[in-house]
Amino acid sequence: MRRPVVGGNWKMHGTLQAARDLARALAARLGRQPAAGAEIVVFPPAVHLVAVVEELKGTAVGVGAQNAHFAASGAYTGEVSPTMILDAGAAWALLGHSERRHFEGGAPEDDALLNRKLKAALAAGMRPVLCIGETLAERESGRTEAVLGGQLSGSLAGLSSEELVRTVLAYEPVWAIGTGKTATPETAQEAHAFVRRWLAGRFSAETAGEVRVQYGGSVKPENAAALMAMPDVDGALVGGASLAAAAFAAIVTAARR
Ligand code: PEP
Repeated sequence: MRRPVVGGNWKMHGTLQAARDLARALAARLGRQPAAGAEIVVFPPAVHLVAVVEELKGTAVGVGAQNAHFAASGAYTGEVSPTMILDAGAAWALLGHSERRHFEGGAPEDDALLNRKLKAALAAGMRPVLCIGETLAERESGRTEAVLGGQLSGSLAGLSSEELVRTVLAYEPVWAIGTGKTATPETAQEAHAFVRRWLAGRFSAETAGEVRVQYGGSVKPENAAALMAMPDVDGALVGGASLAAAAFAAIVTAARR
């Protein structure tokens, strides 16, 4: 039985005080989540990591960064390395979010770069969450599976089965992120089943059966249970609704299997 993972992506929101307040509210609601429930992680902005780690110390809520570089240190202005994130007390790293793959006015992240980042995060002992997903144009032109297969092939190249099982995948259709347009549970299941078939073909059926694949895209307390009840949907990656402790806690509760 795969343990679901519920992640909260706080993106570039809030002040230091707001991050502390949200973390404290989560600690009060989810701090004593029983081991049988979902695994929980939040991804605050990098400058808030230390404070959020402090607030969530000793609780069931893990902390991660929204990005991690492939180098341990060096002349990479503006970047944050796995070593630095671990040193800040956070264990997780969100990689390849569509807002970074399709960066407006910046350098978009491609699968070759994400492959380097993923390998570096794994080598450092971090717990990576790798995002994949198609745009609306790609879905409407019947290319969803080709796009997902390409992203998996490029970003997971050279990983061992053990490394793959330590990686959480997040299927996030780009058209559903921050738009209020959630995929139906059936549409999500279809994509998740494709991902698992692809993993079984490239690795093994046994390995594919162990990998957690979250769904992300306008998940809210009202739709979370139906999405996460799908057989291949192992939790959720939540953006907007993760900024309210009550809503995020309700999604975590809906993830119990
Ligand atoms: C996300 O940021 O990964 C996300 C899914 O955002 P939202 O829940 O707001 O659509």
